[in-house]
Amino acid sequence: MGWSLGYDSNWSRDIGYGVPAICDHPDCNKKIDRGLAHICGGEPYGGESGCGLYFCANHLYVAKGPIRCAQCMDGHSPFIAKPDHPDWIVWKLEHASWQQWRDENPAEVERMKSTLAAMSATPLAAETIKEPK
Ligand SMILES: [Zn+2]
Ligand SMILES: [Zn+2]
Repeated sequence: MGWSLGYDSNWSRDIGYGVPAICDHPDCNKKIDRGLAHICGGEPYGGESGCGLYFCANHLYVAKGPIRCAQCMDGHSPFIAKPDHPDWIVWKLEHASWQQWRDENPAEVERMKSTLAAMSATPLAAETIKEPK
């Protein structure tokens, strides 16, 4: 069963293991994908008890029930969903398979371009070129 690409209308994001993403934990920039292995709640949209955000293995916990993030484990409100990974934004903005989507969603295309511009102003890539303290 393929679940490479879907859409999460709760968080308004593309999901599936075909979607590169950044761990939704606020202090984490680890690159993951939005597949089932990374979702809080263990199923698309988070199921009954998860928030449906996506986390790296360090930020998912197993106790009773499905894998979940710390916020859901503790019954707190979820973290804020992060913007898409720049790789994914570039893919959607440039790849031929997204041409029809771009034609149909010009406002979304503009929004993604400005997200990307904001990201390059404060690059995630900084974590790899950070100077030692
Ligand atoms: Zn959660
Ligand atoms: Zn993480």
